[in-house]
Amino acid sequence: MDDCVFCSIVAGQLPAEVLATSSEAIAIQDRNPVAPVHALVISKRHVESVHAIGKEDEHVLMDCLRLVRHVADLQGVGDGYRILSNVGLQGGQTVFHLHIHLLGGTELGPLLPSKQGGT
Ligand code: 5GP
Ligand code: ZN
Repeated sequence: MDDCVFCSIVAGQLPAEVLATSSEAIAIQDRNPVAPVHALVISKRHVESVHAIGKEDEHVLMDCLRLVRHVADLQGVGDGYRILSNVGLQGGQTVFHLHIHLLGGTELGPLLPSKQGGT
């Protein structure tokens, strides 16, 4: 797809530090890491987000998750890490091409701070 940064990386038209590949996905180093380990597992096919996956593409998501596990082992965080996939502007997505963040290498704590303030 034109004007998609991740399609360009998949096509080798934009440089990226590739960590591993699979039949349906590639894993790269995030250029703006927010944890000691911060990889992105990106589908080779252009799909907008997890929410846009059709029945015919469900195997793509499974393949991405397999690659997540492989990269977690490669990066030495197989015993504990976080995966997340932002969906839409409201969900914080900035690149509208399916990808899963793999975060680890530190104590990540709760996903979001509690707003309740009590127990
Ligand atoms: P999102 O905000 O869509 O969930 O995540 C997009 C991620 O892609 C961000 O963490 C951002 O740092 C990363 N990113 C955006 N453009 C590039 C790029 O050209 N190269 C690499 N390696 N990472 C990128
Ligand atoms: Zn794309």
